[in-house]
Amino acid sequence: MAVTADIVVAGGGVIGTAIAWRAAGAGLDVIVVDPESGDAASQVAAGMLAPVSESLFGEDALLALNLLAVRRFGPFAAELEAATGRDVGLRREGTLAVAYDPGDHAALVRLTAFRRSLGLDAEELDSRECRRLEPFLAPDVRGGFLFAGDWSVDNRRYAGALRQAMQAAGVRTVHDRVTEVRIHGGKVCGVRLAGAGADGPGVGADGAASSADGGIDCATVVIAAGYASGQIAGLPGPLRGVVRPVKGQLLRLRHPTGMPPVLSHTVRAVVRGTDVYLVPRADGEMIVGATSEERGPDRTVTAGAVHDLLRDAMSVLPVTSELALAETCAGLRPGTPDNGPVVGATGIGGLLMATGHYRNGILLSAVTADAAVAFLTGQRPALEWEPFSPRRFMVQAGST
Ligand SMILES: Cc1cc2nc3c(=O)[nH]c(=O)nc-3n(C[C@H](O)[C@H](O)[C@H](O)COP(=O)(O)OP(=O)(O)OC[C@H]3O[C@@H](n4cnc5c(N)ncnc54)[C@H](O)[C@@H]3O)c2cc1C
Repeated sequence: MAVTADIVVAGGGVIGTAIAWRAAGAGLDVIVVDPESGDAASQVAAGMLAPVSESLFGEDALLALNLLAVRRFGPFAAELEAATGRDVGLRREGTLAVAYDPGDHAALVRLTAFRRSLGLDAEELDSRECRRLEPFLAPDVRGGFLFAGDWSVDNRRYAGALRQAMQAAGVRTVHDRVTEVRIHGGKVCGVRLAGAGADGPGVGADGAASSADGGIDCATVVIAAGYASGQIAGLPGPLRGVVRPVKGQLLRLRHPTGMPPVLSHTVRAVVRGTDVYLVPRADGEMIVGATSEERGPDRTVTAGAVHDLLRDAMSVLPVTSELALAETCAGLRPGTPDNGPVVGATGIGGLLMATGHYRNGILLSAVTADAAVAFLTGQRPALEWEPFSPRRFMVQAGST
């Protein structure tokens, strides 16, 4: 007998699980399909919630969405912690952006002048003031800016809590890969699965749905498969090529037992023209990231990247050399041509996209869940979402 649900979510990273949790809370019957191959970008990310220090020239609409996202994140995380009894490691100390040499300082000052022209808060600090906030910073640090509203979260704890909350809300999981969205008469009628999940053909271990016939019948599908979203057949042609993998390599360091924390703020540094960030966690972990590479779906950790990240981290925070190198990892950000997410209706009845979150998927997860539930229940999502409809790519494709 075919398995049925109101909604199938293809992809169980932070975007898919956040949507599934909220959709179940709205009374919908949801199945999340994910092969759980462990390659989700959500597990690799640094967890910065950084609309201001991430903002770049020419990305004003994305900045507005990211500012909405950081305002929403606190209440959303509080609700998640209450629902699960888990601490997701939200840190509100703020982000300190620092510059290493005079050229780096000039670049940081220029970028911050632009950010201030948009009304964003940035407190300028000289070298000594930076070290008063973070005593382990190198004396070479020229100066910087404090972005008090840029926070961070422990993305792995957060992703684990979302998964627990979603399951407690009654969401079923299928350990498999969606190969195709089935469409009949211009409307979604189900999904086809690869049928080769890790725990047997399409059967999950955790109260999961059986899909032995290789498919699930449903009237709505949400595509939340990160960088691989375009590999699913049945999507309108222009949407299949919109999301690409952007490789990011990152290190997880750990304080040796008994060593006090070496940072309290997230530190973002420009070191001889290269960006590096250091994100402290309450449990003694410190993230050092990240590269940004256009290499297709390659997740090799390279010696050169590990070297460069450590070199730049040690330039601004020499004590980094005393921490243990606990893990090196590489993830694939779901990048898009305009760096913005792709969230909303597609023109095919019941087919929603929720992908393309690129550098900001952890930050945007709560507002993406809000938007998806609005679409699913016939309401209007926040106005900040308007520039990020999938239709922007379909219109472009149709007109050229
Ligand atoms: C190095 C690095 C640092 C980052 N730092 C930050 C940061 O500080 N702050 C921030 O906000 N963001 C950050 N990001 C970006 C963030 O990680 C992503 O935007 C976010 O994780 C995307 O979430 P997702 O759920 O869309 O995709 P993913 O987390 O990649 O999850 C997609 C899931 O879909 C599954 N899947 C794939 N194909 C299929 C299929 N056909 N059927 C079913 N399931 C499928 C996969 O198994 C996977 O579990 C970073 C990313 C990287 C790589």
